[in-house]
Amino acid sequence: MKLVFASNNPHKLGEIRAMLGNDYEILSLHDIDCHADIPETADTLEGNAHQKATYIYERYHCDCFADDTGLEVEALNGHPGVYTARYAGPQCTPEDNIVKLLHEMQGKENRNAVFKTAVCLILQGKEYLFNGIVKGRITEKKQGTDGFGYDPVFAPDETGCTFAEMGVVEKNKISHRARAIQQLKDYLCSLQPETINA
Ligand code: IMP
Repeated sequence: MKLVFASNNPHKLGEIRAMLGNDYEILSLHDIDCHADIPETADTLEGNAHQKATYIYERYHCDCFADDTGLEVEALNGHPGVYTARYAGPQCTPEDNIVKLLHEMQGKENRNAVFKTAVCLILQGKEYLFNGIVKGRITEKKQGTDGFGYDPVFAPDETGCTFAEMGVVEKNKISHRARAIQQLKDYLCSLQPETINA
């Protein structure tokens, strides 16, 4: 089965291809010659995932899915939330975001945080929504070099280390995106063969 994933992020593509396995051919935006900066202007994760998937479906008329992720930190009243990607400003790097987060968290005893992912699938014109969350804590400093984004400062409750200290296989067992993608996979597996474009 062929599905476009509305991203060019090699880390995310690697995670999702590893999770979905060989029964699914996951195409990136580059693969379909889409080089647009797809708008993400909604005020919820679900809204942004819907916006990205709809953008692709309306222009490329293919089965596709998109995700949006937010990090909600208890001591920061749920921020950065839907603004997680641009936490340190519109043109910021992942490193800028981490520096800002660790700065805001200085002296905070409550380090609880949750990563949330919303995934919007558009299959033969119909839309489906899946969610995944993982609870954890913000570390005092960066730990580990794997992964991407906030991985070096987010330690899920299930383990004693950050996402950046785990391999992709370990991360895919418990991450927010893995949990949302597992629901997507369960749904796809439940479909009758004639509804699939394979
Ligand atoms: P997006 O929804 O993929 O654009 O992600 C929003 C923000 O969350 C970006 O700053 C990403 O780097 C970050 N992010 C998304 N997924 C992960 C993850 O699995 N680990 C760490 N950071 C992530």
